[in-house]
Amino acid sequence: MHREYILYSDCNNSRSHEPTNESSRGHFTIEEVTDLHNKTGNDLVRPCDIKGILHSHSRYCDGAHPLISMVETARNIGLEYLGISDHFKTTAHQDGMDVSAVKVQRHEVDLLRNKYPDFEILQGVELDANPDGTLPVDDATLLLFDYVIVSFPENDGYNPKTFTDQVIKVASHPLVTILGRPIGDLILNKNGGSLDMERVLKAAAEGQTAVEVNANPDTDQLQWEYCRMAQELGVFMSISPDAHRAARLVDYRHGTEQAHDAGLRCASILNTLPVAELKEYLGRNSNI
Ligand SMILES: [Zn+2]
Repeated sequence: MHREYILYSDCNNSRSHEPTNESSRGHFTIEEVTDLHNKTGNDLVRPCDIKGILHSHSRYCDGAHPLISMVETARNIGLEYLGISDHFKTTAHQDGMDVSAVKVQRHEVDLLRNKYPDFEILQGVELDANPDGTLPVDDATLLLFDYVIVSFPENDGYNPKTFTDQVIKVASHPLVTILGRPIGDLILNKNGGSLDMERVLKAAAEGQTAVEVNANPDTDQLQWEYCRMAQELGVFMSISPDAHRAARLVDYRHGTEQAHDAGLRCASILNTLPVAELKEYLGRNSNI
């Protein structure tokens, strides 16, 4: 039986790998460690590589804390930017923002940018996809935001092909930036085996749509093989706490540790990009 290793790194130390007795976190044999290091150039993502968060909520919809608290907390924990992604008003989210609320939020974002010139705030939105893979708002509305996250509601009763086609249609939409959590808890817990991830990830690669890695410590571990498949296909992954309160922003560290253990490189993680590069990436479909 192979002895198992995790790849250990710390923000204050040089990158290294060390054996562990913590077998519950051991995911690699020594042969796999060697292979990964050869392939990655020892560039596995670490918490200190994460520059910002793109999935969070404020009191504009669903969040417990006002926007300023989310921004100040993100800044205080050493991040360089925060994307706020409150829901837009739809059938699924009757309490979401309407267009006038979006404009008020944009004004507040601008005020906070002036208050904290060393910190960037992005105004995103989170939507639930319709069962047929269309979106519940029109393109003109999507263009109000710096980026768009589309998530997938509970879908018991869908057949696997229908669900896969739905996700692929969303992944192919030119104004969708991130698929919300198809790799994390949604697939693992609710729809295991019901989604053709290879087809989904190929569509995401083709559409240059990122996929979200759920950083919530309460969810199960990542599906390693899907994360690595995404990496091999060149799909960006966004490590996201989906923070509904300021104290949960720091959960990105948990998600990053899991991504590290899954063998994901910095270059595969969207939110390791410095803010200027991130804005360039988002600029293809946003008004920033
Ligand atoms: Zn959310």
